[in-house]
This record gives sequence, structure tokens and C-alpha cells, in this order.
Amino acid sequence: MTKISASGIVGIDLGTTNSAAAVMIGGEPVIIPSEEGLTPYGKMFPSVVAFTDENERLVGELARMHAVENPDRTVSGIKRKMGTSHKVKIGPREYTPQEISAMILQKIKMDAEEYLGTEVEKAVITVPAYFNDNQRIATKEAGRIAGLEVVRLINEPTAASLAYGLDKEKKEELKIAVLDLGAGTFDVTILKLREELFKVISTSGDTQLGGLDMDEKLVEFMLKELEKEYRLDIRRDKKAMQKLRSATERAKIDLSTASSTNIGISFPFVELGLNQNMNLDLSREEMEELIKPVIQRLDEPINQALEDAKLAPEHIDKVVLVGGPTRMPVVREKIERFFGKEAERGIDPMECVAKGAAIQAGVLAGEIDDVLLLDVIPLSLGIETSGGIFTPIMERNTTIPVDESEIFTTSKDNQMRMAIHVLQGERAMAADNTTLGLFSFDDIPVAPKRTPLIDVAFDIDADGILNVSAEDLDTSKRREIRIEGSTKLSEEEIGGMIKKAKRHEKEDKKRRESIETLNQAKAIIDAAELAIKEMYEDEGVNEQGKGEVKKGVLQLKEGMKGEVEGDIDIQKIKKDAEELKRIMQKMLIDKGEGEE
Ligand code: ADP
Ligand code: MG
Repeated sequence: MTKISASGIVGIDLGTTNSAAAVMIGGEPVIIPSEEGLTPYGKMFPSVVAFTDENERLVGELARMHAVENPDRTVSGIKRKMGTSHKVKIGPREYTPQEISAMILQKIKMDAEEYLGTEVEKAVITVPAYFNDNQRIATKEAGRIAGLEVVRLINEPTAASLAYGLDKEKKEELKIAVLDLGAGTFDVTILKLREELFKVISTSGDTQLGGLDMDEKLVEFMLKELEKEYRLDIRRDKKAMQKLRSATERAKIDLSTASSTNIGISFPFVELGLNQNMNLDLSREEMEELIKPVIQRLDEPINQALEDAKLAPEHIDKVVLVGGPTRMPVVREKIERFFGKEAERGIDPMECVAKGAAIQAGVLAGEIDDVLLLDVIPLSLGIETSGGIFTPIMERNTTIPVDESEIFTTSKDNQMRMAIHVLQGERAMAADNTTLGLFSFDDIPVAPKRTPLIDVAFDIDADGILNVSAEDLDTSKRREIRIEGSTKLSEEEIGGMIKKAKRHEKEDKKRRESIETLNQAKAIIDAAELAIKEMYEDEGVNEQGKGEVKKGVLQLKEGMKGEVEGDIDIQKIKKDAEELKRIMQKMLIDKGEGEE
């Protein structure tokens, strides 16, 4: 048995299809093997949970193998559901994504304890850079359920960069592109490293692109071969298809190192009393040709991330490859050609995230000289305000930890409650963004509209977890958010959000302006009507002035009739509102109350 570091904090890459764990031993990150030893990919923990017919729970490699026999009672890809209200139903029981993830973490914890010969109670867990609050909270919760204190969540691309020691580079500023091609997702992150601080400049990706798409192309080819050579159609035979899939994937993996491979599968057709064996040679070249359409799809997200970062490929100093499929020469070559430089090498791309997490764990345990980690929020955070507008409180790419606040007021007389609708996204209208939580602030004292001052504060900690509070500045009554609504955001949506916002930029801007104009016009009308009331009691104001204000109010109201967009002339309202404001200001100046 090896002697371990004093900290015992493990680093865990909780992946969509595979997870990995590492720990610092003698100042180096070392991968913790699973009890089953090697999987077809290496020392991984497949992120799979299965329940046998006897309701015995299997996790990891055993569960993955079980999938072939019993796909209906096997859960995989749970990471895609983290932070959603999705439930997994198996037999009479329902599980949350956190609970399923916790089973994977528990397995890792157990195997790590076995391997290290000590208790493992703390972990650093990695998450994709684009993970939102709900997804991060769910990940922490999974840790807690598994009996692990999650001392820090760090972004996967940051962890991968740490594994390569990029934080130790001598250059003043380093721009790093991390390309993570997994089984079903492709994540691109552009990082900036400056004075040992990592900052995410942009993220992009394709949530439906990865090794599985390659498998799909190869399976298609195999099915055709089966029909041609053996007159066999197994499409409707679930088990046979599973068998074909795993044999095909194995062949693909072989071809990362071998130039050709043999695929041999025996399909038992028990019902027909038939056995059929398939045998086929496949060369790397043939395979690369078959998966070409998948490889071509890598371009778009990379281009998008660079565009968002306002960088060209030649501005990137370091290219880091993460994920199983980047072990393939064709993938590596493609990316190296794109950037015109060699990618970092020397660490297994399926291990580097876990190793980086272990390094961060070492830092937190005080074993390694401090590396400060800095990340940013991937999407803007804010609340819904009058007219359904999304009012950001924190802009996208703000560095965390951070707290910011803004003061809001009521829009109705004697309004005692205010709905605080917390959202995330880049669109102008609240409805086009994603709800993170909703709560009611009920402690507003009775007062005319627009007089209470409610301070809404957003606070994000180092793990990227958000707390929202509302406080009445007059009474100091305060309420912290209880996020009641569960998220409606799926991983797929996040990826497309920024792109969508861009596409709708113009119309969004117009709409926001319209509603803001209407809101302002309403506020001016309120102020003018109040002024008129006061003016009648105030003999000092000339009659002409009163008449002008009244006329202005009428004109503005007339223009706003209907209030349906397209129905009204926003430019005219804007003009009328400004005119009314001017008249009122003039009158106040005449009265000696003006501020100008
Ligand atoms: P995820 O991050 O989604 O969990 P991984 O990084 O674990 O994904 O990658 C899993 C994928 O990598 C699978 O599709 C698997 O087929 C593929 N893979 C693993 N090793 C190799 C290899 N040597 N060559 C090609 N593909 C591989
Ligand atoms: Mg991964």
C-alpha cells in the first residue's frame, strides 16, 4: 500500500459517461483505480448505476456491463439531468439526479478508501464551466448525500489546465483553449491565465456531439454489412443492438493505437434456435472515413468560442485536449491543424480533469503553494421587472466570488409584496430566459407607489452558488431566497442560449426599449398627475402651466392607449414623455423647486 498525502482530499471528475478520481501522492496527482480495475477505457468509473432484478444496486463498470443485459434498469448520463426536476423511475422507487450521482460518488469514495487505506471525507469535484447555479448546487448535494464534504467545485477546463501545470508558465498572460470531447458532449472553453488566476473568457459547445456519434456512424455501417453479408436485420433486437454497439466502440478504441482491428460478434437468436457469428476487419482509414461527418462538426463550436472571446486561432498559446475521443489521432490532428500548433501532451485526456482536481485539493489542503482560482459566471443573472423585462444584476463573465445589489421600488400604491423572479440568460425579456427561483418579498410597508426602496442583492460564492436577498431599506426587513421553483433549464438549452440571444439581439433591444419607454411614460404621468393635484391647492402656480401639464398628460395617455406593441407609436410616446417632463421641470423651476 502506498502512503498517502496528509490531506486525503480527493479530486473527482464526475463525468457524463465516465468519472475519474485522483489524489496527491508525494506531490504528484495519482489516479485512483476502481476496484474492478481496468475498464475498456482505462482506470475509470463508468458513470452508470444499475439495479438488478433482485434490486441489488450496481455502480460503475459492473453497472455498465449490466446495461447490455438489462438496459431498462440501468441509468446512465445522469449528469445531463443535474439541476433539473427530472426523476429516474426504477421499479417502485423514484430517484433524483443528485441521488443517482451520489451513488457514483459513493462508489468512488469506497474504492478510494480501499486503495488509500484511510477514510476519505472531502473532495474537490469538477463541473463544466457552463454549469448554472442549480447544476452546481445539485453537484454539491450529490457529494453531501454520498458522505463527502465538497470543499470546492472547480471548472473542468481549469482543472485540465492545472494538470498540465499551465499555471506555472512564465508568460505574463496565457490564452488557453480547452477542448473537451466526451461521449455525448463537446465543450470548448477559452481561458485566460494571468498572475496565476484563471478566468473563463468564453464557452461554447455542442451538447449532442461526441464519441457516441462516432459509434452511431460505425454501427450504421455495421448494420449495412450485416444485411449485405449475413442477411441479418437486428435493429429491433435490443440486446443484439447493445452487443453490436459495445463491439463497435471497442473497435473504435482499438483503432486509436492500432492501424486495423477485427470485429467479431456472435448474435444468439435463442428463440429461433439460431446462432450467427459476424466477423469483419476494419482499418483506421476506413473508420476515419466513416466518422468524417462527426469530425467536421468540431469546427463550429471552436469558431464560436473564439469569436465570443474576440480571438483568432493564432492568439491561443496553449491547446488542451480532454475526453476519451481526443485520444484518437484524427481528432488530435484536426485540432492541431485548426490552431496551427501542437496540443499539450503527456497526460491521458481521460485523466487530466481528475488530476487537476487533485492538484486543487492539494492546494486547499495547503500542500501545494497557493494557486488562486478565478472563474466567471457563464450567463447574466438578474430579475424580472415591470413589463416583463429582464434586468441583469450581474453581467455574464463577471468574476466570482462576487456580490452586487440594486435598488427597486413598487409600481402600485400600497403594494405590500413584490415577486422576486430570479433569472439567468442573455435575452431582454424575462420570459425568454431561464427561471432559477421565485420568491415573494412580503414585508413592504404601506406606501404610495415608487416610494419604498427594496435592495435586491445577489451573492455568488467561490463555488459559483447564488444567494439572493431582498431588503426593505426603510424597515430593514429582509428575506433570503428560498429557491422554490426548480429549474426548467436543460443542458441543451444553456448551450444554445448565448447563440439565440445573439440572433435576437436587434428585436430584443427594440422590445426592451419599447417597454422601458412605456414604463418611463407611466412614471411621468404619475408624477404629473400628482403635481396637478398639488397645483390646484397651490395658488402660486400659473393657470397656463397647469393647463400645459394637463394637456401633456392627456396627449401622452392618448398615445399609450392599447399599450399593445405595434399598435402604438413608441417614438411618439418617447417624444411626448420628454416634452411633459420638460414642461414639469420648467414649472418647478418657475416655482423655485427645480434642481437644475
Ligand atoms: P464524458 O466526459 O462524456 O464522460 P469521456 O471523456 O469519458 O466522456 O469519454 C468517453 C468517450 O470516449 C466514449 O465515447 C468512448 O468511446 C471514447 N473513448 C475512450 N477511449 C477512447 C479511445 N482510445 N479512442 C477513441 N475513443 C475513446
Ligand atoms: Mg468529461
